[in-house]
Amino acid sequence: MGKVVNMGLKLVILPDEAMGHVLEQNMGNARFLWNNMLAMYINLYMLFSFNGCPLCPNIRNFNAMLKMLKQENAFLREGESTSQQQVFRDLVNAFNKFFKEGSGYPKFKSKKDLRQSFRIQKNGNNIRITNRRIRLAKLGYVHYRTSSKYKKLLKNSKINNVTVKRENGKYYAIVNITTTLEELEKTGEDIGIDLGLKNLATLSNGQEIVNLDLKKEDAMIRKYQKKLSRQKYMSKNYQKTLRKYHKWQDKKNNKIQNAYHQLSKYLVEKYDIIAMENLNIKGMFQNQRWAPKLQRISLYKLVNMLKYKSEWYGKTFIQIDRFYPSTKTCNICGYRNDNITLDIRQWTCPSCGTHHHRDTNAAINILNEAIKIKYKQTI
Ligand SMILES: [Zn+2]
Repeated sequence: MGKVVNMGLKLVILPDEAMGHVLEQNMGNARFLWNNMLAMYINLYMLFSFNGCPLCPNIRNFNAMLKMLKQENAFLREGESTSQQQVFRDLVNAFNKFFKEGSGYPKFKSKKDLRQSFRIQKNGNNIRITNRRIRLAKLGYVHYRTSSKYKKLLKNSKINNVTVKRENGKYYAIVNITTTLEELEKTGEDIGIDLGLKNLATLSNGQEIVNLDLKKEDAMIRKYQKKLSRQKYMSKNYQKTLRKYHKWQDKKNNKIQNAYHQLSKYLVEKYDIIAMENLNIKGMFQNQRWAPKLQRISLYKLVNMLKYKSEWYGKTFIQIDRFYPSTKTCNICGYRNDNITLDIRQWTCPSCGTHHHRDTNAAINILNEAIKIKYKQTI
């Protein structure tokens, strides 16, 4: 008996020049649609609010906007229609994230963004994967490269959609599949995680997980960024530097991605309940000075991995949503010590005399709070 799950497999695709051109055109169309629907929505929202009934950013309203845009722009009528519908689905998701999860307001996309993408929905035989090539609806076939593990999965799973993406100068197809996974055995052990800035995380068993060392990657990225700013845009030398810049960006992303995959896999294999504070309420991550935007974005990736892997493998991931003074509370007697500032790494509880390592104590409190939440849920 297994669990039915959706997952995305990232394949490197190798388009020839003509296909590369087609892919770029489709990314351009997706960007055009996104920007125009967003602009249209903002205008209509003001108009409707003025009359006292705000316009919902839902699928029906965006679908109506797509129809209007298609009437005005003939080239859209010839594009891949499933990928156009995906654009407004993504917009609806972006708005949901904004309203429910506190993410930023959906932004306009620029041609200069490092990431460009479009998505094709599976419809009959429009997406097909052979041993070496993937069919992207009416755009045609393109060669791909991937591991034998992924090839096997692709062969035996149901395909839902494909996102084509350009990232740091390389093309990828992210194939979303439905497959069956075996749940992991329960270990009878639980863990609390306190995310930090000095260390990536401290666990409730006292284990500390250090931050990745990205000094070399960051230095090279900065070096080529500087060089780019001095070169003539899109000149031969500029493009040469751009490739090097992309290479280091890629290295950095892969390093983060691999480390987070390993860490989340380790935690999900070893523990039944994994507890963490919600990043939205964790004060220091909201402070720009302490937590740069990029660090917050990559931490959301880690949280996301823990979330879906726990679900896949039959474990429980609990995020504590409400404000809870995990750092200031003694996990033994519950005494609340308001004197704990950021520089205090260890403290002794004035009430029960227990000596605490600051972050381990916080992680234990997070775990205890999560167990309370889980216990309430199952009554
Ligand atoms: Zn105490």
